[in-house]
Amino acid sequence: ISISPLKEQKIGNLNQGSKASNKSLDRKHWILQQRRSLPIASAERKLVDEVRKNDTIIIVGETGSGKTTQLPQYLFNAGFCRDGKVIGITQPRRVAAITVAKRVAEECDVQLGQKVGYAIRFEDATSGSTRIKYMTDGLLLREALLDPILSRYSVIIVDEAHERTVHTDVLLGLLKKVQGARLKQHKLDKPYANNVVKLDNECHSSNTKFSPLKLIIMSASLDAKGFSEYFGGAKAVYVQGRQYPVDILYTYNPEPDYVDATVITIFQIHLDDNPGDILAFLTGQEEIELVDMLVHERLKQLPEHSRNILTVRIYSSLPSEQQMNVFRPTPSNFRKVILATNIAETSVTIPGVKYVIDPGVVKSRYYNPVTGMESLIIMPISKAQALQRSGRAGREGPGKCFRLYPESEFWKLIDSTVPEIKRCSLSNVVLQLKALGFDDIIGFDFMDKPSRSAIKQSLQELYLLGALTDDCKLSDPVGIQMARFPLDPIYSKALILSREFRCLEEMLIVVAMLSVESIFYSPREKFEEARSAWKKFSSPDGDHLTLVTVFRAAIEYREKIRAATNKENSIDKSLSRWCRDNFINNRSLKHALDVHSQIKVYLEQMDMSLSSCGDDVLQFRRCLTASFFLNAAEKQPDGSYRVKANGQNVQIHPSSVLFRAKPECIIFTELIQTNQIYVRSVSQAWMPELSKYYDAES
Ligand code: ADP
Ligand code: MG
Repeated sequence: ISISPLKEQKIGNLNQGSKASNKSLDRKHWILQQRRSLPIASAERKLVDEVRKNDTIIIVGETGSGKTTQLPQYLFNAGFCRDGKVIGITQPRRVAAITVAKRVAEECDVQLGQKVGYAIRFEDATSGSTRIKYMTDGLLLREALLDPILSRYSVIIVDEAHERTVHTDVLLGLLKKVQGARLKQHKLDKPYANNVVKLDNECHSSNTKFSPLKLIIMSASLDAKGFSEYFGGAKAVYVQGRQYPVDILYTYNPEPDYVDATVITIFQIHLDDNPGDILAFLTGQEEIELVDMLVHERLKQLPEHSRNILTVRIYSSLPSEQQMNVFRPTPSNFRKVILATNIAETSVTIPGVKYVIDPGVVKSRYYNPVTGMESLIIMPISKAQALQRSGRAGREGPGKCFRLYPESEFWKLIDSTVPEIKRCSLSNVVLQLKALGFDDIIGFDFMDKPSRSAIKQSLQELYLLGALTDDCKLSDPVGIQMARFPLDPIYSKALILSREFRCLEEMLIVVAMLSVESIFYSPREKFEEARSAWKKFSSPDGDHLTLVTVFRAAIEYREKIRAATNKENSIDKSLSRWCRDNFINNRSLKHALDVHSQIKVYLEQMDMSLSSCGDDVLQFRRCLTASFFLNAAEKQPDGSYRVKANGQNVQIHPSSVLFRAKPECIIFTELIQTNQIYVRSVSQAWMPELSKYYDAES
């Protein structure tokens, strides 16, 4: 009697299910076909064999051939995750880690965070059952702090190694050491393991804590030789890709404004050329938003039938729920225009691109070894990057690449990009290496050695921040604590100090707000309106307290809504409206809220309880001054400022609340270099505190 309703129910479910799963079956089938048609698919057996035979291999392959998405799955299927071990794949960029993990989870037909997951700073989508883990290279470095031999991993794939980010370079050095240590342990362990009664044929691998570590270095461009040499002549394997011819077009003359030239080129292609999506390389979020706006403005002037352009954006700080938009198929009759940073050069392959627009510039970290300061500047790309960019147009058929500069300029470009480690501040690297137990930084086995003077600068900075002792060891507890925060050393120090000054609550907000892209947002035509909306937040003490006020106002508003409704969805919507009304960047604010709660977890782990200075803003200014004394600057007769630590001349950025007030002495937390050097996020320094660090003349 009890069976029959159950049965009925089951059949009902099945019927319902089969309708839905018909569609998902189609998709599954389609995905499977796509996977099988990737260039790497025919090399599966060979690749798995090579990984079995060699402890380290270099894999070089054309972008889009399937390295990042497929190889981890091949290795998983070949049994590299036995005994619960994990295959880790590092990416230089957050977006790549997220989008690829999502794609691979779908290919494996599992929920993200289960078998396939990702972890980036401030966001962890993995679980105990994760076996294929995508992550940023920086994150793996942090994991090494807790687990120096990376015992959870059977394989580590360093992807996009050609990017040579500073984290990749440090990671390569570290992995070499870890691999050596694991091999040594493994050999020591083996006799012992062999003496144990063999319970099953997996016995010798069951003592896996110290199993050897497989290392795979993957790269898009053909610089395998350098990597191979660095890894003692490791074998390099090439994966053949597909590449169709791409026509390269140059401008006759240099373009004075590449943003404008990009917009013009988009329309020129759209109106005169065949169907096919356009990929334009821009330098950052703000530029991408600007081009997006200009395209839409111009679209309005076109006749109805020509307005069939769809723009999508992709850049590193894009919230993860929006990143997958670039992969949505273009509606028929529409032309997709992808506005991307150099993330689309190699990290993320977007199907359908036939036209590439390359203004020839990129935003990069630049370190001035004389002043010891780092900033982001827009500079020319390298020849290798230009080639890589144009290649994006020829993935599925012949394409065109519009270089928005004359051919003569191309020949002046440097051959390949200088590794980041040679052009960034090393304070973070040095702190991490010290925390990992590498005391001799100059002697560390870097693939490309950073300059001695840059290392010395960072050692000095860390010493001044109190992270190092007189004999250059990590100090206890300050240095050790600083290394634990996933932040720039100077921010970590600020958090640690603010506990003493009893304003940790405020400093935590400041650090969270400074960790995201610009909080304030104003469309060009509404600048004055925006300015007056911001007035109610602005603090005469400076931008830092202004950020605190914005953050608190947002929280207060959110709690008010929460009291009225419990639906997260409507709370979200109301908060976005509040942001729009106040000209606050909703995405940045949300990100800051996230970062805030993540750092709070670290603080709790370190038993650092939040305390507020309340209305005592002087206390906060004292703390700010003590934390950022290295970034203090004094007013000059002409209204510019002179950085006390290095004599550099800077201006207060017009977006600062102190732009007009121009106090005698300021503390800043951001340096921007355009045609001028600006400081942004500026507060009044507290002189008595500052004089503790700078005596009268030095
Ligand atoms: P490689 O690492 O060799 O550059 P990938 O493994 O990243 O190649 O990409 C292989 C293929 O999978 C590409 O054709 C790309 O377009 C496709 N692909 C990757 N991610 C996604 C996604 N999220 N949605 C749809 N297609 C994707
Ligand atoms: Mg890849």
